[in-house]
Amino acid sequence: MNTPYWVAGQAASSDDVLEVRSPHDGALAGTTSNASAADVERAIVAATDVAEEFASLPAHARAAALDHVSRQLAERADEVAALITAESGKPLKWSRMEVNRAVSTFRWAAEEARRFSGDLQRLDTDPAATGRMALVRRAPRGVVLGIAPFNFPLNLVAHKVAPAIAVGAPIILKPAPATPLVALLLGAILAETDLPAGSWSILPVPNEVAASLVDDPRLPVVSFTGSGPVGYGILDRVPRKHVVLELGGNAAAVVCPDWTDLDWAAQRIATFAMYQGGQSCISVQRVYIHRDVYTQVSDAVVNHVRKLNTGEPQDASTDVGPLINEAAAERVEAWVNEAVMAGARVLTGGFRDGATYAPTVLTDVPVDCKVVDEEVFGPVVVLAPVDSVDEAFAAVNASRFGLQAGLFTHDLRVAFQASKRLDVGGVIVGDVPSFRADQMPYGGVKESGTGREGVHSAMEDLTEERVLVLTGL
Ligand code: NAD
Repeated sequence: MNTPYWVAGQAASSDDVLEVRSPHDGALAGTTSNASAADVERAIVAATDVAEEFASLPAHARAAALDHVSRQLAERADEVAALITAESGKPLKWSRMEVNRAVSTFRWAAEEARRFSGDLQRLDTDPAATGRMALVRRAPRGVVLGIAPFNFPLNLVAHKVAPAIAVGAPIILKPAPATPLVALLLGAILAETDLPAGSWSILPVPNEVAASLVDDPRLPVVSFTGSGPVGYGILDRVPRKHVVLELGGNAAAVVCPDWTDLDWAAQRIATFAMYQGGQSCISVQRVYIHRDVYTQVSDAVVNHVRKLNTGEPQDASTDVGPLINEAAAERVEAWVNEAVMAGARVLTGGFRDGATYAPTVLTDVPVDCKVVDEEVFGPVVVLAPVDSVDEAFAAVNASRFGLQAGLFTHDLRVAFQASKRLDVGGVIVGDVPSFRADQMPYGGVKESGTGREGVHSAMEDLTEERVLVLTGL
């Protein structure tokens, strides 16, 4: 039976069947269907109709629903993780990590739903406002269109859905075409809650239909996570809507000579350059290592990369699986070949097997090569020596992206300088740029996007301040 999609909280299906296959071996992960035009319309009308009621739903009811989802995801973690792996090819260990994160995203959203309030401001700092004060409430901006990518098919859907429910904003969620099944399973759990019909829909639709949803004036908020070209295309189409863009990057790590455990740093770099095939927007792509410790760190990175297990994603010991499809692996292969032609040296890896690209470490890469300049979104890391922190910071900033950076140093002054001087949304001191806790503000500068997610930040983003001035107090 086709996995149903969800229209205004109700299961539905159409004749437009969608087969979802593992990029690893083509095995059928499941089937669903693209939402029919009538169902898309039904979801929009229901969301619009329920918006006022949903905004007024008591915090305890929103929190109870979010807690339920969190608990159910935790209880069904094995099943959910296996489904993520089946449809995306993500190794099971990383799928399990993603489920744990989604459990936490929903739990945190429940907590935030309970405490998210406005502000009381005194206005009598000016004589003309004597006897007045302002109540500042945060009201939902309106129905949210959430558009999610394939690489975290559960937790990035959670980052759209949970904050919307927490603030009482109806949401229509469009999952990525390659990975709709786990989002639809989440729908089955949401359907067990008492959330009002119409407050949420999960609709697999082709990209042309997604584009028409972007254009639809009844959906005033677009929260998009995905690639830059699609994201900026959306912003260009609807410049007057409230658009949040969480886009890509070519994240860097800096290793300073004072860092004591260089082997640990190398192990973290190896793991988070390659995990889920490098298909993370904060995967380690560029590493700037102080020349004093360059050989030691470089050798250790290669050593740890060689120890990674590549293979069957459902095997719990697998570290690196396939990319989302063979075309993605061919692109990575072409980019590595371009770097090699330009003089780069392959320290390990550098070959492709179907949709799987071998974990690859490069050095001596000219800075204008795509593996440095663009988002690789594959298991490739570029190592480069630097002579100073200044040189490393300049190299990190020589990018049109700016999501997060990692900084291995024990020197608090260097850490503070990094926070001031690196053009990124976040600096992770003592670890790789790939660290993310789901409650912290998360997002990019430059071409990595606009706006912030992280449960609380997303709730602020989905709402606007409404002021009530009280007189005669
Ligand atoms: P993508 O841009 O190809 O697709 C993202 C989503 O947009 C999908 O659901 C897709 O179907 C939809 N889409 C495509 N064309 C559309 C259109 N014209 N109108 C509306 N929707 C449309 O991205 P992807 O390949 O799924 O994901 C990988 C990208 O996502 C990478 O660049 C990665 O860095 C980025 N990403 C960013 C973050 C972040 O938080 N900053 C997190 C994860 C992934």
